[in-house]
Amino acid sequence: MTEKPLFNRLALIGTGLIGSSIARAARAQGAVREIVATARSTVTRKRVTELQIADEVVDTNAAAVEGADLVIVCIPVGACGPVAKEIAPHLAPGAIVSDVGSVKGSVLREMSAHLPKTVHFIPAHPVAGTEHSGPDAGFAELFVNRWCILTPPPGADKTAVDRLAAFWRALGANVETMTAEHHDLVLAVTSHLPHLIAYTIVGTADELATVTRSEVLKFSAGGFRDFTRIAASDPTMWRDVFLANKDAVLEMLGRFNEDVSALTKAIRRGDGDALFDHFTRTRAIRKGIVDIGQDSASPDFGRPHPDLPHDPLPKPYAADEG
Ligand code: NAP
Repeated sequence: MTEKPLFNRLALIGTGLIGSSIARAARAQGAVREIVATARSTVTRKRVTELQIADEVVDTNAAAVEGADLVIVCIPVGACGPVAKEIAPHLAPGAIVSDVGSVKGSVLREMSAHLPKTVHFIPAHPVAGTEHSGPDAGFAELFVNRWCILTPPPGADKTAVDRLAAFWRALGANVETMTAEHHDLVLAVTSHLPHLIAYTIVGTADELATVTRSEVLKFSAGGFRDFTRIAASDPTMWRDVFLANKDAVLEMLGRFNEDVSALTKAIRRGDGDALFDHFTRTRAIRKGIVDIGQDSASPDFGRPHPDLPHDPLPKPYAADEG
């Protein structure tokens, strides 16, 4: 629990997995005095009301931001620009406006084009998630021990950046600051490319005529199952991520294709040494990730097995983190 609330009124625009998790965590930690939430559809707004995760649920984005000193936009990145335009005339002077989008360069450009100079715009990306969507999927512990990357634009107010960092720390996250451009390059390789590979391989297996669908499902524990879960991630969110981070993803995809070609050549030539060296190097990378506590060494990445007794907190997978 924080000693006293860091913000008076938190407005959440979008209350899916991330927005509803912020609401739950901010309340659990006493990080804000009150929470007002909204969502695009009446169905989601009704569900958020039933879940009682916000103090107030309002019908419009404009009404949500009235009087808020912290506004967090938790919607797909492609929708952030139009929403910034919509809320701009209603923002309180001095408010901090942020987002949670998985791509930062496009959000920075498209939102700052509309936001008034009287507010502090500090984009953010909590690197935490699961493959599930919607307000029921959220949980208060989602951000614990996960990174939240802030990408303040040049000249951003330091006090505002520090206040937003304190908010994310109160929710359990570790905070790192970098430029939006650097963020997009790093995430292209750590998150966007792995998702693209999962989407591809699951599609490839599905189209294989020689392997029946039931065999794919039956023997899925051999690595494929993990890909299917990642490939179940929200199609809207991921469509927007690839469109918004096109340049960095294409750059990483080019390098990836070169590496696949090198491994293909090694297999074709029967070059066991090359394969062994490569796999030894990647094993060391995996060990490094476990050593710094970003994943567990237990099978299935520490995700509780549905048939086994497990602790009540789902530990999100590294590869799910949009
Ligand atoms: P989600 O569970 O699908 O929730 C999305 C929310 O955005 C819903 O409240 C939805 O409203 C609203 N929304 C969708 N399209 C909209 C539009 N065009 N205009 C206004 N509101 C719209 O998604 P999420 O996983 O919370 O993702 C939200 C953001 O977090 C994305 O930018 C994503 O890149 C980022 N992020 C996701 C993860 C992850 O693993 N999922 C991790 C880190 C960051 P309705 O329900 O009413 O349709």
